[in-house]
Amino acid sequence: MSGRAAETPNEPPGLTLVSSEGKPYRFDPGALCLELTTTGGPGAFARWEVLHEPADLLAWAGRSRLPAGLDLTVTAGELERARALRDAVLLLAADRAHDRPLRTAHLDVVNAAAAEPALVARIAPDGSRAWAPGATGTQLLSTVARDAIDLFTGPHAHRVRECGAHNCYLLFVDTSRPGRRRWCAMEHCGNREKVRAHRARQAPRKP
Ligand SMILES: [Zn+2]
Repeated sequence: MSGRAAETPNEPPGLTLVSSEGKPYRFDPGALCLELTTTGGPGAFARWEVLHEPADLLAWAGRSRLPAGLDLTVTAGELERARALRDAVLLLAADRAHDRPLRTAHLDVVNAAAAEPALVARIAPDGSRAWAPGATGTQLLSTVARDAIDLFTGPHAHRVRECGAHNCYLLFVDTSRPGRRRWCAMEHCGNREKVRAHRARQAPRKP
């Protein structure tokens, strides 16, 4: 599958997700590699799988925080490796969020993807940032894997967290200065948990 990833100009970083009640909300996981973890995952996360065919990875690239205008070709093999990389990044981020050691098998997947050539950025005649044409899925995965290495070895490595809501497993990196981010999105889990806490406080009072 080949094509140009759709452009989404004038939007803040992050992805639009849809709640189980069908309500859209904006989730910014704070890093490109964590954006890939919203596409499904291993085990129980498989029910959220959205990477079924190469076109799905292209669509994800268009919605991601990568600069727009990526001219990309993705093969079936690369799609399979995208799911494997996604699962490895998800499990590494979850281990990081819960202060568990990072597992070698997952690091090997990330390191192998990062060893390939990455996407090539270029400057267009009008001074804007663009991509070298004819990119491959392998290059896309290398860029994602290098982003994961930057995240897990960088200054925010210990700010990787799981959403604090009781039934939400979304992973994000808290890059805010105070470092007190608890929710995937305040408009989604933050408000839901506030309502839960409010109801819990009200519950014992009988009229
Ligand atoms: Zn959440």
